[in-house]
Amino acid sequence: MTSLSNASELLDAIQPADGGQNVLDPATGELVGRAPVHTVEDLNEAVDRAKAAQRGWEGLGHAKRSELMHQAADAIEANAEALAELLSREQGKPLDGPNARFEVGACAVWLRAAADTPLEPETLFDDESGTATLTYRALGVVGAIGPWNWPMMITVWQIAGSLRMGNTVVVKPSEYTPLSVLGLVHVINTVLPEDVLHVVAGDREVGAAMSTHPGFAKIMFTGSTATGKKIIESSAGNLPRLTMELGGNDAGIVLDDVDPQAIAGDLFWGAFINTGQTCAAMKRLYVPDAIYDDVVEALADVAANTPMGVGVDEGNVLGPLQNKAQFDVVDRLVKSAAESGARIVLGGNPDYDAPGYFYPTTLVADIDKDNPLVVEEQFGPALPIIRYTDLEEAIEEANKLEVGLGSSVWSADRERALDVASRLEAGTTWINSHGGVDPRVPFGGVKGSGYGLEFGVDGLKAVARPHVING
Ligand code: NAD
Repeated sequence: MTSLSNASELLDAIQPADGGQNVLDPATGELVGRAPVHTVEDLNEAVDRAKAAQRGWEGLGHAKRSELMHQAADAIEANAEALAELLSREQGKPLDGPNARFEVGACAVWLRAAADTPLEPETLFDDESGTATLTYRALGVVGAIGPWNWPMMITVWQIAGSLRMGNTVVVKPSEYTPLSVLGLVHVINTVLPEDVLHVVAGDREVGAAMSTHPGFAKIMFTGSTATGKKIIESSAGNLPRLTMELGGNDAGIVLDDVDPQAIAGDLFWGAFINTGQTCAAMKRLYVPDAIYDDVVEALADVAANTPMGVGVDEGNVLGPLQNKAQFDVVDRLVKSAAESGARIVLGGNPDYDAPGYFYPTTLVADIDKDNPLVVEEQFGPALPIIRYTDLEEAIEEANKLEVGLGSSVWSADRERALDVASRLEAGTTWINSHGGVDPRVPFGGVKGSGYGLEFGVDGLKAVARPHVING
């Protein structure tokens, strides 16, 4: 197995001979590398080739495909440092903490899990009248359109089940993080047969062309709710199946029986993982009056002691925003909170002249429940902490938005926590943690956060064609 010693070697393998799009490091503004700019013609060719390869890939059978997926995971592990360095430089996330090395590790874990998840035919009935069996077969070519926040891991989430079920895949990475995905696919393709997995690194136009392309039997989309709606509309003519992993605005509800010091670390990482640029991060926190000041103080302590800086400098665990547009969203929302009279406990006030898109870790207390920082997805390192006196009202507030990806309840009393959890409108509700995912456990949103499930048996079924044999 080839093993690349660093990101430069990986870049040599994926950069075009000349030209292409410059990709800049969001922490320093320096050039990371050049990404090819694929066109709609490149997309068409990739789909044709993926289509031609699909029968052969499916024909290998589950055991052989699973074996190759384990080998692909081995290849990722053998090249983990090069992949992590490239990811850190392009996305901005630090090598350390739950960031770049963690993300690369998760890619291998998710490939292995999809390879090993059993999906047996289901006997629906078997009696004197006959037998009905439900089987799952490959769909054909799957299109995978991804975002820039966890570019490698989300690509693997989209492709692992698809490959396992015998589909071939065309991936379109975000225009902000093409190199990470090109690097990942390059490593996986050292193992997979030719044409099973393609990457088309284009802009939004190429994404839009994917959603109208008749060659896709399924589109896996992870990104904003606004783009998800466009894909649903424009794909209607061809009727591909869709999995929509869209935006969120996860609420965390703290109950009055917790020890603020004891939960502060987990609360912090629930909100600030990947510097807040995480779909299922806690984006608004509801805290009861009785312990409000103690929770805010405990969180501020953790935040003040969590280093932010350039990702490839060891020791940092928070990084910059990945792009200027996202920096501007966070800046606007924090400003509007401050102008409304909310209390900036920590952070705010970024250094606009410093290199990179660093926004300081920010906690905003005593904020109105309808402030834009509460009701819009900030997708960055600024957490609004809303005071409540009536738990019923906090539950109502948590449920009132048009999104429902994750949520969490924090309590020392499991029964109380379960009762509140059962009333929250979200795809996942965590108790005493927020945002942890597991390849055995289905993940997906409700309401404006989308539909369809990834991971586990449900994830395999979502990229398969159910076929009933009856008689
Ligand atoms: P985005 O919607 O702007 O872009 C996502 C992808 O869609 C990109 O590859 C882009 O090129 C492509 N695209 C743009 N226009 C398109 C079109 N008309 N047709 C097809 N594709 C098109 O999202 P983003 O800013 O990259 O990601 C951030 C958002 O993603 C946040 O809202 C976040 O909550 C969400 N997200 C959700 C999940 C989840 O699992 N639910 C995970 C990560 C991120």
